[in-house]
Amino acid sequence: MITAKARAVDGPDKPFKEAEIKRRDLDTKDVLIEIKFAGICHSDIHTAHGEWGEVNYPLVPGHEIAGIVTDVGPEVTKYKVGDRVGVGCMVDSCGDCENCHQGEEQYCLRGNVPTYAGVDKYGEPTQGGYSTHIVVVEDFVLSIPDEIELDQAAPLLCAGITTFSPLHHWKAGPGKKVAVVGLGGLGHMAVKIAHAMGAEVTVLSQSLKKKEDGMRFGAADYYATSDPETFEKLAGTFDLIINTVSAKLKLDDYLSLLALDGSLVNVGAPAEPLSLNVFSLIGHRRSFAGSLIGGIRETQEMLNFCAEHKIGPEIEVISADQINEAYDRVLNSDVKYRFVIDISTM
Ligand SMILES: [Zn+2]
Ligand SMILES: [Zn+2]
Repeated sequence: MITAKARAVDGPDKPFKEAEIKRRDLDTKDVLIEIKFAGICHSDIHTAHGEWGEVNYPLVPGHEIAGIVTDVGPEVTKYKVGDRVGVGCMVDSCGDCENCHQGEEQYCLRGNVPTYAGVDKYGEPTQGGYSTHIVVVEDFVLSIPDEIELDQAAPLLCAGITTFSPLHHWKAGPGKKVAVVGLGGLGHMAVKIAHAMGAEVTVLSQSLKKKEDGMRFGAADYYATSDPETFEKLAGTFDLIINTVSAKLKLDDYLSLLALDGSLVNVGAPAEPLSLNVFSLIGHRRSFAGSLIGGIRETQEMLNFCAEHKIGPEIEVISADQINEAYDRVLNSDVKYRFVIDISTM
């Protein structure tokens, strides 16, 4: 077993503290990664606080992981010691179902193995990236292009792919009008990626507070959703709306902004059920959809795309001792736009 230093929570209302966790010895196709940076995703907070179902504590969150390969199993062919690599929201899947065969491992019919708060094929609980080392089978390890710094790479592994995948799937590009609801960790990546894909991007945010940032990230327009005139003015405008907020939205209002055949895609996950009036859909053959991260192949495409277009997240690097404070700040929307833990401070 490999011992790793980590930061863990012992219960839903407990703070992070120092911990030691075990990582398995390398199986034939496993890669040992020395983690350099780990992003703080809102999902980490929901899970740590036990808001998304029962969790086995102690829990080490973190699914935005960037580091360096320090050892490989005897049958590893894709990576070697010294490679710059990343790990995202999942660390395994059955590899054998229809969805896995299509490279959509996140939708594995037997359930993918999440990077933390899951159980791996050895029956052990998975623990995430707020730690110095992780062991992952090579098929779930991503290569980080040289153009992307490791601290910048970390948030791409969740926030990047979560927004890239629906933009790619619903064909954001030249001639398409895309709206992004919410300018947070996910939203700011959605704006940058959609703009780099060639789409005309509009931010729909509660207020105009972050307008300057949104325009700098590539938005052509920016509207406050607290202003009822916004919904009148933009009715029937967008081909695609990516909703990154997990607050309960009035869906009918947002659906009314879609053009013919437009889609409203949720990547934020509200805890409560949402309701909508079906007339909002049938009037203009509109769709309401959801999307979960992306497959491994698509995640690699996303990293290569970000390298090629020189885009990355806006980050604030923190030390391991600042995780509790960072969680509070995320909950208070006081983050521009992603916290990344410098694991060397652990
Ligand atoms: Zn995440
Ligand atoms: Zn599968």
